[in-house]
Amino acid sequence: MTTTEIGSLHDEVRELARARNAVILAHNYQVPEVQDVADYVGDSLGLSRQAAATDADTIVFCGVHFMAETAAILAPEKTVLIPDPDAGCSLASSITADELRGWKAEHPGAVVVSYVNTTAEVKAESDFCCTSGNAKAVIEAIPADREILFLPDMYLGLWLEKVTGRTLQIWLGECHVHAGIRPADIERWQAEAPDAELLVHPECGCASQAMAFGNSRTHILSTEGMVKFARESPRERFMIATEVGILHRLNREVPEKRFEAVREAAVCRFMKMITLEKLRDSLRDGKHVVTVEPAIAQRARGAIDRMIGIG
Ligand code: SF4
Repeated sequence: MTTTEIGSLHDEVRELARARNAVILAHNYQVPEVQDVADYVGDSLGLSRQAAATDADTIVFCGVHFMAETAAILAPEKTVLIPDPDAGCSLASSITADELRGWKAEHPGAVVVSYVNTTAEVKAESDFCCTSGNAKAVIEAIPADREILFLPDMYLGLWLEKVTGRTLQIWLGECHVHAGIRPADIERWQAEAPDAELLVHPECGCASQAMAFGNSRTHILSTEGMVKFARESPRERFMIATEVGILHRLNREVPEKRFEAVREAAVCRFMKMITLEKLRDSLRDGKHVVTVEPAIAQRARGAIDRMIGIG
């Protein structure tokens, strides 16, 4: 698409959003032209907070389906739209509510902490939700004598065990994009870019290894944490280990610094299913409406509220 075509679609999208009194929320793994037209760009936690606080009539969620579901739970009086209902998540698909019920039955009395990358049905079976931005604080808020079931991301779970010193029961799920960022990817950068800080998302397959480096220029951070860290750091160069969409946000918000992906193939095909044309069509035609069955939403809401309130 040419710059002129993008500009013209941006104008159309902004006009349709104004007419519908809609707010456009975009995850920071979205394609650049969608990030650039959004009202807010952020991570799951930040966007959940925006969804809960907005006074718009419609929320258009440019992200994957579980995120739009979370917005629908937090803002039941709003219309929530997703431009492509097939934008799923391999991590959220790694556990079903039935599987979680079976796991809970094996651990009676355990506290269930679900990463936000889960379906509404799984959240409804959970005590707490968390994001990578506040997962450590959520675990630390649970009394030390309680058993914890953590799901579904095993790399995030292993990282949490290390930073909290707690032993967790961990579901063996993974995100195919982050799991694909291997220790060899970051070892290469350790050698090739000795002047750079390495920012690693805890979902990555390399996160535990990165921690083991134990050096002062390796940092395990949520995507929101990466933006904040880069802005405040005196360093000029950063290697980024997460989905590559975050580079656009980093370049836009911290333009004076240099960002490079440790693995350029770390692309989430689900996130990239949302295009500017689909966003335009969504606003124009009021599609695709995301709803959550009220009984499920009510049970999931408690876990999500606890997530938003911590960290
Ligand atoms: S990057 Fe991974 S966790 Fe995030 S939406 Fe894509 S598949 Fe899911």
